[in-house]
Amino acid sequence: MRVILLGPPGSGKGTQGEMIAKKFHLPRISTGDILREAIKKETPLGLAAKAEMSAGHLVNDEIVASLVAERIKKADCKQGYILDGFPRNINQVRLLEKMDNSQEEIVFEISVPEEVILDRLTSRRICSSCGAVYNIITSPPQRPGICDLCGGSLIQRDDDRAEVVRERLRVYEAEIKEIIDHYKEKGVFYRINGQGTFEEVFQRIESLLVLKFKTKINQPKE
Ligand code: AMP
Repeated sequence: MRVILLGPPGSGKGTQGEMIAKKFHLPRISTGDILREAIKKETPLGLAAKAEMSAGHLVNDEIVASLVAERIKKADCKQGYILDGFPRNINQVRLLEKMDNSQEEIVFEISVPEEVILDRLTSRRICSSCGAVYNIITSPPQRPGICDLCGGSLIQRDDDRAEVVRERLRVYEAEIKEIIDHYKEKGVFYRINGQGTFEEVFQRIESLLVLKFKTKINQPKE
C-alpha cells in the first residue's frame, strides 16, 4: 500500500503523514526532511540542493527520485509506505511508477486556502536541534524561542519567509493539476478538507484508508 500525500506547503502533510505512520505502522518518507538533513550534514547532495531549496524551487527530479528509490528498497517498506512531498511534478510521478509498481495506491490532496497557508507558514518555527515544529500563534513553546522537548533554539526555515512561501505556492499550483489529473484517471485520488484540528483532518483520511484497505491492512492499533 502506497499512501501519497499531496498538498501545498503548510497544508499539514507532515503531521498527517506522521499520524498515518503511527496508526498503520508504515514508514513515512519525506523528501523535504531527507534534503534538509543532507544540508545540515553538508553532504554533496545537501550542497547541491541548498540553493534551490532556499529559493523555494524544486530540486532536480533525478536526484530526488534516486533518494526515494534507495529508501523504498529498505525492508520496512515491503508492506507499504507513505510519501510526503514526492512526487512534486508529473515527471516524478512517472519516475515513481517506474521504480515501484507493486503497491496499491491511494492519493490524498490536503486542501487549505492560500491565506491560511501564509499565516501558518510564516508563524512556523522549528527546533534547530531536534526538528520539533511549533507555531508561534497556535502552538507556541513554553519559553519563547526555546524547544520544549530538548531546549534547542527555535528558528524559522529559510523557505518559510513570506516571499519564499509565495514562490513555493506558485510552484505547487503550476505542477499539481497534471498530477491530480493523472491520479484521478487511475481512480485513486481523494481531496481532503485540511482545515480543523489535526485529529479532525486525520479522521477524514483514516476513514478512507480503512474503507479502501480494510481487507489488506492489519487492524489499526489504538
Ligand atoms: P517540503 O518540506 O516538502 O516543503 O520541501 C521543502 C523543499 O525541499 C521544497 O521547496 C523543494 O526545494 C525541496 N523538495 C522536497 N521534495 C521535493 C521533490 N519531491 N522534488 C523536488 N524538490 C523537493
